[in-house]
Amino acid sequence: MLRREMRHRYFGFVEKHWREPPIPSGHVGEMDINYTVVLVCLRDGFRTRGRIMAFTWTALLDKITRHRISGGVHPPDHKELTAERPIRKVPAPGTVILPLSQHLGAPCRPVVGKGDRVYVGTLIADSDAYVSAPIHSSVSGTVVRVAPHPHPAGGEVESIFIENDGTEARDPGLEPLSWEDMEPAEIVRAIRSAGIVGLGGAAFPTHVKLSPPADYPIDTVIINGAECEPFLTSDYRVMVERAEEVVTGLMIIMKAVGARRGIIAIEANKPLAIGRVSEVAHAYDLEVFTLPTRYPQGAEKVLINRVLGRKVPSGGLPMHVGVVVNNASTAQAIAYYFRTGLPLVRRVVTVTGSIVAKPSNILVPLGTTFGEAIKACGGLTGQASKVVMGGPMMGVAQYTLEVPVVKATSGILVFSSEEVDYEIPRAPVCIRCGRCLSVCPMRLVPTQLAKAAYVGDLEELERLDVVDCMECGSCAYTCPTKNQLVQLIRLGKAELAADGRKEKERAEQV
Ligand code: SF4
Ligand code: SF4
Repeated sequence: MLRREMRHRYFGFVEKHWREPPIPSGHVGEMDINYTVVLVCLRDGFRTRGRIMAFTWTALLDKITRHRISGGVHPPDHKELTAERPIRKVPAPGTVILPLSQHLGAPCRPVVGKGDRVYVGTLIADSDAYVSAPIHSSVSGTVVRVAPHPHPAGGEVESIFIENDGTEARDPGLEPLSWEDMEPAEIVRAIRSAGIVGLGGAAFPTHVKLSPPADYPIDTVIINGAECEPFLTSDYRVMVERAEEVVTGLMIIMKAVGARRGIIAIEANKPLAIGRVSEVAHAYDLEVFTLPTRYPQGAEKVLINRVLGRKVPSGGLPMHVGVVVNNASTAQAIAYYFRTGLPLVRRVVTVTGSIVAKPSNILVPLGTTFGEAIKACGGLTGQASKVVMGGPMMGVAQYTLEVPVVKATSGILVFSSEEVDYEIPRAPVCIRCGRCLSVCPMRLVPTQLAKAAYVGDLEELERLDVVDCMECGSCAYTCPTKNQLVQLIRLGKAELAADGRKEKERAEQV
């Protein structure tokens, strides 16, 4: 208890001083933050003679020995636009558009056709593939067509169009489930049937995460409440308003994977969420871990290292160190499904930006277009120059507002022309400042990776462990010469993957 209290105070302290760093530093490398903390300790520790010094030195020792701060950046978070806006349910549109691919893995096949009557929660598409997740109707009404439609992740995807009859009638077959009386395998099957995927943005099917092989036992489940991407506040509002369900979701996941320890990790800049979740979690003997505020604190490997001091091996997964990580909204969706029987048919989306009339966190049926979601937030007060799905660091720019909200849509960001810096891509110019190295949370060498990708040197990319790049964008964000590091690395990864596929095909033909 004392330790938790001290850690909480320590990170609050560092956070406060980090905003006004005592050394002129433009980035947050490991050396910088350590140096900063030492200076703060010396300055304020001596000034207050004892108390602050006592806990900061203890916490500093703790950090150095167990939970090293590694890399990351601290972009302005802009969360003030929506952080205090409670979740608001918006009406379903006249027609919803549900793409057959809303997750990582194999796309689904429709199980309904034109003219079929469906209800809220009716299964409309499924797949036999293991890595996939079924899709359900988010409205009651009639299927009007199945046709290709622009997808927010890019390109066009076969989608089911459902005309809403406005009654919000639920599928009569839906019933609550008692997870306490279910076997772990039954829980995992139920989560699959609800179409639940990671709601943090990756949309990885949750049932796959909860089914590690027997030789990788899971001892700890971490609920990721970091929400470190600027602008986004949907997870934050879920934790504040639905803390009970987030904690219940954690307990369901723990039972599904047989873990004994459950931790909810939340960044220090969300004290209200920490308070609400702690009230519930401590009653069930679950832990709440306060993370320092830094991007990309919510990346799985960074989070595991921070919370447990365990290092996921290169190319490995959290299960290789006995951990499962799920996003806070995913945990809430799981608990909601077991309580009500309603599959994943809607989600909380942060719609924000300086030209959104009423930046909000809205509970929106899947299949609502971005244009309709923005309209539900009062529309725009100026000309939009860029619209992004997700956060500004890892989000995907859109070319039309006709794309629908999908399971991965955590946010819709709208930027004006004054806020967008359109740079024409050019050959990388490196002044060897080393900033990209110091901020890379995976301890990679972004400048070398980008160079290898630029010249198409696949061997070098492999040697430099390009697969470990999580595409967080910290390197590109911090580069003073604005090299498109993450963009080049992403291309390099894609080329390497394509080469691997060709290699496999050749081997199969021999
Ligand atoms: S190399 Fe990859 S993991 Fe490292 S900072 Fe750049 S984008 Fe992030
Ligand atoms: S790529 Fe950019 S950040 Fe990295 S060393 Fe070169 S100039 Fe510095």
